[in-house]
Amino acid sequence: MHGRDNSLPPVIKHLKRGCLSVQQAPDGHVYRHRLASLAFKGEDVHGAEATWIVTAPVARAIAVLERFQPQDQPYLLAPAPSTRRRSTFPVPNSNTTNKDIAFLISWITTYCGDRSRPDGIPLERGRLPRLTTRQFRRTLAWFIARRPGGAIAGALQYRHQCIQMFEGYAGTSDSGFRDEVEAEQALARGQLLAEMGADEVRPTLSGPAGAEAEARLAEFARHTVFDGQVVTDEARLRRIVARHDPHLYLGTFVTCVYNPDRALCRSPEASADQPVMADCQPQACRNAALTSDNRQALADHLLRLEDTLAAGDRLAPYVRHRLEEQHRATAAFLTRHTPEIAE
Ligand code: SF4
Repeated sequence: MHGRDNSLPPVIKHLKRGCLSVQQAPDGHVYRHRLASLAFKGEDVHGAEATWIVTAPVARAIAVLERFQPQDQPYLLAPAPSTRRRSTFPVPNSNTTNKDIAFLISWITTYCGDRSRPDGIPLERGRLPRLTTRQFRRTLAWFIARRPGGAIAGALQYRHQCIQMFEGYAGTSDSGFRDEVEAEQALARGQLLAEMGADEVRPTLSGPAGAEAEARLAEFARHTVFDGQVVTDEARLRRIVARHDPHLYLGTFVTCVYNPDRALCRSPEASADQPVMADCQPQACRNAALTSDNRQALADHLLRLEDTLAAGDRLAPYVRHRLEEQHRATAAFLTRHTPEIAE
């Protein structure tokens, strides 16, 4: 299994009882959950001890797994003794995991059927679906690349989870999952940009790089839009993105029209392939453009700042000063780059 069985992350299969620890504030509030397991890199089949910061839902899942396993079983995902043939290592291989998934689907279906619940797992061509760990990986990559609802991950909470999963899990394993997520992100971005390119009544992008964003979208649309219809074939769209990537990155507050030479988010040691959106400096960078959604997000942010400042008496002077500065700069940026509506 180790290093070769790549269908489920080794870090998960090697989770052990007691792998979770927490850090608490003096009032008892838990502010950090840490997960200890083994990370596998290269051909090292033994793995190295590693720690990940995880979210509260992960901590709850660990607690549930600890209750599922017998007290004397240290591995949280150990197969049931009856299914664990003569294995030298008590963690499940892909076959066992696929059988477990099939068993879970069957159990859910029976449970829902017995209780006339409508939320069972739908049949596929009259049979229970056969899901495998490969599909699990693909689904996970899909969700990391897109937030629920179809837009590129932008909601902050979901973004945090993406970064945790991506850096903490994909980034430290040799599973190839990083490539899978990046391919899915490129496809999701391509689909969104192709739809934008096909939308003739879409408000124009503004900002320092607004005109360049429009030019790149128009060029991309030459490859992705035919008779007003966007290419829907996934494999074809993946090829088009690989060859004609417009290097436009849609964020919540800004759209990056990436040009490495003038990017303010890049450190000398970072790869020049793509922007570091987490370090974006939209009000100063010449790569910044604004969609109407970006402008709306900035306007909403201004309102939130105003609400906070309205209760300013309770703020420390330094914090209040910083928020006022932020409000001034954001309002000026938004005014500068909001297109005038023709009378
Ligand atoms: S600073 Fe922001 S706008 Fe500029 S290149 Fe980086 S991500 Fe793009």
